[in-house]
Amino acid sequence: MISLPDEAELAIRAEGERAYPDECCGALLGGFDGESGKIVKAILPIGNSSETAERFHRFTIGPGDFMRAEREAKARNMDLIGFYHSHPDHPAEPSDYDLEHALPFYSYVIVAVEQGAASGLTSWEMSADRARFLRESQNQGQNLEAPPRTPQGDQSP
Ligand SMILES: [Zn+2]
Repeated sequence: MISLPDEAELAIRAEGERAYPDECCGALLGGFDGESGKIVKAILPIGNSSETAERFHRFTIGPGDFMRAEREAKARNMDLIGFYHSHPDHPAEPSDYDLEHALPFYSYVIVAVEQGAASGLTSWEMSADRARFLRESQNQGQNLEAPPRTPQGDQSP
């Protein structure tokens, strides 16, 4: 289970909208609670280091980014507990690419960004056999389920 405070969730949504039509990505910093699992306390945006041509659909966190995120977490007395990225115009479900590049234990938060507006947000963890992602429950989950899609043409400012 992961606890994602509204503030962190809003920040991830905003990152996704800012990066659109590219993917955004970043690290989840926080800690552990015996009862509720991971607790996100801060997010750390990471520059998308994929090749420019692929940036719109391939988030990549390089080894340098990874180390920087761990250092940043330590400096704030937190742990690196996962990563987030956006899916521009795709559902908030992990792709095969995501699974290939995932690591066990960490949480992977995905936010769908449709036409520039953040919509569904989900969290995933790798199964023990690394064969698939398991949807991770969230204890402040009122926003975790994909909200009803707004009808096309509703372009609120
Ligand atoms: Zn993805």
